Amino acid sequence: MTDMALETLAIRTQISRSDAGEHSAPIFLTSSFVFDTAEDLKDAFDEVSDAHVYSRYSNPNVDEFVEKVALLEGAETGVAMASGMAAIYTTFMALLQSGDHIVSCSSVFGATHSLFKNYFPKLQISHSYFHAQHVQELPSLIQPNTKCIYLETPTNPAIAIIDLETVAAVAKEKNVLLIVDNCFATPYIQQPIRWGADLVIHSATKYMDGQGRVLGGVVVGKASLIRDIYLFGRLTGPALSPMNAWMLSKSLETLAIRMDRHAENAHFIAEQLEHHSALSDVSYPFLPSHPQYDIAKKQMKLGGGMVTITLHGGYEAAKLFLNRLQMIKISPNLGDSRTIATHPASSTHSKLSEEDRRTVGITPGLVRLSIGLEHRDDILRDILQALETNVG
Ligand SMILES: *Cc1c(COP(=O)(O)O)cnc(C)c1O
Repeated sequence: MTDMALETLAIRTQISRSDAGEHSAPIFLTSSFVFDTAEDLKDAFDEVSDAHVYSRYSNPNVDEFVEKVALLEGAETGVAMASGMAAIYTTFMALLQSGDHIVSCSSVFGATHSLFKNYFPKLQISHSYFHAQHVQELPSLIQPNTKCIYLETPTNPAIAIIDLETVAAVAKEKNVLLIVDNCFATPYIQQPIRWGADLVIHSATKYMDGQGRVLGGVVVGKASLIRDIYLFGRLTGPALSPMNAWMLSKSLETLAIRMDRHAENAHFIAEQLEHHSALSDVSYPFLPSHPQYDIAKKQMKLGGGMVTITLHGGYEAAKLFLNRLQMIKISPNLGDSRTIATHPASSTHSKLSEEDRRTVGITPGLVRLSIGLEHRDDILRDILQALETNVG
């Protein structure tokens, strides 16, 4: 099965049929499972058999989703969680201990940043940041107690690209783990494990669901690491619900075709906006003007669905633009079939200090656009009319 292409694996990976002979997988809405004999129960608890016991531990729908993501990412195995943050938190808690140190890209999801800043210090887990554009500084940030390098690429929300091959080489040389949050790219566009990452994390809430319906998270990678994350997760309880796992697994059937259209629309919008007089910057990985265009071309199949624009006139101009949008809604979410506009400085990244925001390029005039699957002309028309008052 693994010699099949990603598109096929995303559709054909399915749990065994029940006696009913259903075509689409049924939903196993059950908290626990039954055993024919006392010996069967013992074997399940001793992990002699791989029978399901309890849905905090495992569930057929969750297994199907995890197996699919592992295949798409080229990973050995994986574990699913109730949300992206549950996946991120559980991974760190399972693998790190007090005294450990994380080297992270400074441009990470706002909640991940808050975890590093506000909670990990209580556990004596420290961190240093490297700037997405200064990967050469990375070796000098590695300390004897550094356990992992953590990053997102493309970064959120500035859409900087980090060279996975270069970072993986540093991780290998320094003998630290490389963990990549691959949420913005999805495995259809970029597979960090192929470049040397040990673990890949997703907020499945975004492009994996793709329709803004459910929360979910998943971690895939080396079996020994996944085992530790799984054991901590099943003990502490951030389990993915069977219903959500079923929806996510069904959604992955259309991941490739959706990402093709997201990227086609986003590329078009970025090109059309690039020289707009109301904007001082348009960032999209597959625009030749992008500072890391060559790296993006090397490690990404497409440019993805995220575009950021920077308005002349800062927050006032950004507010005016957002409030004038008609079809496009303001929301902190992304990776939806509907185009979404976000103002990171006042929402997703408002918990960062102003200086932290400035260093990662989150200026008051920056607006993040998650380009959806509507007709590109309708998306463009709404953006252009909303920019009109900002011209000149
Ligand atoms: C949304 C997001 C997360 C967190 O995922 P949730 O499902 O909201 O918990 C983590 N990383 C990135 C890059 C995200 O966009």
